[in-house]
Amino acid sequence: MNNKEFQIVVLAKQVPDTHNVGKDAMKEDGTINRAALPAIFNPDDLKALEMALACKDALKDIMPVKVTIITMGPSRAADIIRESLFRGADNGFVVSDRRFAGSDTLATSYALSAAVKKLGKVDLVFSGRQAIDGDTAQVGPQVAEKLDIPQVTYAEELVSMTEKEIVIKRRLDRGVETVKTSFPALVTVHGNATDCRPRHAERLILNKKACSASEAKEKNLDMEALWAKKPFLKIEEWNADDINPDYDRLGMTGSPTKVKSIENVVLTSKENKKINNSESEINELMKELISAHII
Ligand SMILES: Cc1cc2nc3c(=O)[nH]c(=O)nc-3n(C[C@H](O)[C@H](O)[C@H](O)COP(=O)(O)OP(=O)(O)OC[C@H]3O[C@@H](n4cnc5c(N)ncnc54)[C@H](O)[C@@H]3O)c2cc1C
Repeated sequence: MNNKEFQIVVLAKQVPDTHNVGKDAMKEDGTINRAALPAIFNPDDLKALEMALACKDALKDIMPVKVTIITMGPSRAADIIRESLFRGADNGFVVSDRRFAGSDTLATSYALSAAVKKLGKVDLVFSGRQAIDGDTAQVGPQVAEKLDIPQVTYAEELVSMTEKEIVIKRRLDRGVETVKTSFPALVTVHGNATDCRPRHAERLILNKKACSASEAKEKNLDMEALWAKKPFLKIEEWNADDINPDYDRLGMTGSPTKVKSIENVVLTSKENKKINNSESEINELMKELISAHII
């Protein structure tokens, strides 16, 4: 990595589209039937990408900036890198290996932090607040801990960005907090943040043939000549050995979380109550809900 460039990394996950759940979305044992759900860019991570690109825009007249995407998943997660290239990212890496299988958030954040370290000097790391499949919101903060850098969570708005510091509005339950940090730092981006810019037509044409070696092999494509001429079209893949890990901290071995059982819970209403659109009835209902600790 060029030490004179400002280096931004975005952690982005490919997730099953849990917003479009059909009747075959769950297997009989209660686990997700990933094959029945389309794979999409985790929504918060697209917002993280936008914040990273906005930081790049803010610095572009001051210094060179590179936005790199890291995604950990199967080889088809290269879709995430291509989509990011179309929208303005500079490059990306797919971190993929069977030895990562069964990773809980601790092992996932360990592998991702090792991948970030492999890049060398990194000034700013963005992640989504939460992935829509795992839903824990743990990975971003855990990566910051493992990199030993400050973290700003729940980022909703980029207020300002210079080569020395970033100012961010954070969304909290009861309001908004404005915070400032120097670099390096990690920022987790809230779903209320600005939507990601659309694909850029020129970038789409330039990068549409980008693919990884695994994809080329799967689709029987001979990419060597094109990659020699246009190296940016090769989406790099890192396996476990490439990120110099402590192997005991990867996959199942590195995952202390054990799922004991999974149950389908079907919520059914036991009673219903109709109220009229009057202030007194609404107030009465609010009192009831508060005293029952429902809200
Ligand atoms: C015991 C156990 C076993 C599991 N086994 C598997 C398994 O075999 N296969 C499997 O697919 N899942 C498995 N999972 C789920 C997996 O642990 C989580 O999906 C993963 O750790 C990320 O957590 P999360 O989805 O809650 O992410 P969150 O913490 O909600 O994500 C926050 C942000 O972190 C970043 N991030 C998270 N994951 C990634 C990633 N992979 N790449 C890049 N950025 C990322 C994104 O920016 C995301 O918005 C297992 C979980 C447990 C508890």
